Amino acid sequence: MSALDELDFDNRFARLGDAFSTSVLPEPIDEPRLVVASESALALLDLDPAQAEQPLFVEVFSGHKLWADADPRAMVYSGHQFGGYTPRLGDGRGLLLGEVRNQAGEVWDLHLKGAGPTPFSRMGDGRAVLRSSIREFLASEALHALGVPTSRAACVIGSSTPVWRETQERAAMVLRLAQSHVRFGSFEYFYYTKQPEQLKQLGEYVLANHYPHCLEQAEPWLAMFTEIVERNAGLIAQWQAYGFCHGVMNTDNMSILGITFDFGPFAFLDDFDQNFICNHSDHEGRYSYSNQVPIAQWNLSALAQALTPFISVEALREAIGLFLPLYQAHYDDLMRRRLGLTCAEDDDAQLVSQLLQLMQTGGVDYHLFFRQLGDRPAAEALRHVRDDFIDIKGFDAWGERYLTRIARQDDGSEQQRRERMHAVNPLYVLRNYLAQNAIEAAEKGDYEEVRRLHRVLSDPFNEQAGMAQYAQRPPDWGKHLEISCSS
Ligand code: AMP
Ligand code: MG
Repeated sequence: MSALDELDFDNRFARLGDAFSTSVLPEPIDEPRLVVASESALALLDLDPAQAEQPLFVEVFSGHKLWADADPRAMVYSGHQFGGYTPRLGDGRGLLLGEVRNQAGEVWDLHLKGAGPTPFSRMGDGRAVLRSSIREFLASEALHALGVPTSRAACVIGSSTPVWRETQERAAMVLRLAQSHVRFGSFEYFYYTKQPEQLKQLGEYVLANHYPHCLEQAEPWLAMFTEIVERNAGLIAQWQAYGFCHGVMNTDNMSILGITFDFGPFAFLDDFDQNFICNHSDHEGRYSYSNQVPIAQWNLSALAQALTPFISVEALREAIGLFLPLYQAHYDDLMRRRLGLTCAEDDDAQLVSQLLQLMQTGGVDYHLFFRQLGDRPAAEALRHVRDDFIDIKGFDAWGERYLTRIARQDDGSEQQRRERMHAVNPLYVLRNYLAQNAIEAAEKGDYEEVRRLHRVLSDPFNEQAGMAQYAQRPPDWGKHLEISCSS
């Protein structure tokens, strides 16, 4: 374990030069205080949790102090937002403080979101509010605990600095960790501004640092793009299987690493709803739950366009063609596991789609259903959940199919089925209303709830004593929260 002042910086992205990022110093927020920290995220930097209690911790992650070896930078990028191209975005309120090499040799970006204005701030104030910082923190850490690839969040620092959104709120900063902050939009920027040299440099940088194994292939760029397609297919399958809606899948929010990135008005489903739209400014449902699959492919095509100087259009098309079948295979596999099935059968996809249709009609809670199906012997569990459905006859027929299906598996005891299911079906999920309760307390200066919620979500598959209230259906008010898109 190291101390905070012993971090080993190696600022590779900053060394690419001023065409890629601009030097900017963080602008401190007033009366900074630690809201919440993630032990497991800090461990990525070899920091033990006690470091978060040091005065230096709050100072550096609120912009008051800086390591001598840090080199804070605002990165330039552009991107397709809701389908339209915005030629210049860039870090308008987040700074890459530097890159830290840990004892395992991994390099992690320290990205401080809400660090003040930059040349890319346009009309914005460079700030992030406490509410959205807590949401990003909780979501990153909850997804990680579910096993979904994501950027991480090490801490949230609150302050007394006022910021204006719909009303006056308080500024906060969240320390995001990721192995890269390069986005699809980073490539698009150099492509559309016709800077072929820089585009090539960026690609070579990403290849060398993040896809070094692709350099051994005959066509490294194509190998890298193909792997990005593969990673996205796996990622989106996990989002769909766990009911996670990102909300703003603009290409500037798509990580080149294929991880969940840049959280906005995200939500986990409560009741199952294919058409669920978590972003209230998404009037056409471009980023609705079920559209995440075709949109991910659309975004890969946008990235492919920016890579046409290096990869033939035919090869790019072929790689993009891998997305849907790979996605489907991952998704089918995850859903099979959620149902406790150990081997594949031809009709499994139909078994899942029939179930989802019944859940859709009945407005059945997506998470509790799978958890409860693993709570008891199958026939008993089916009887227990059937009242949640509206089409009870339909559900009973499905239940018969399910019982026959699991009876055909020769894979151990009923007890093992339940254990298998509990290992993949979370009991605790970051429902919007849980985040909202924690935020409301934090806005009043009480950080206990956000800390407790974070602890509960860090171990989502195991029942925790005294935490039953986090494993309930949401109250009616909690299902229809309008999450502000401002952040
Ligand atoms: P986001 O919605 O957070 O992905 O941001 C989209 C773009 O708007 C990025 O270029 C951000 O840096 C910029 N942005 C968002 N909020 C602010 C803000 N409060 N001040 C400055 N820039 C912002
Ligand atoms: Mg963004």
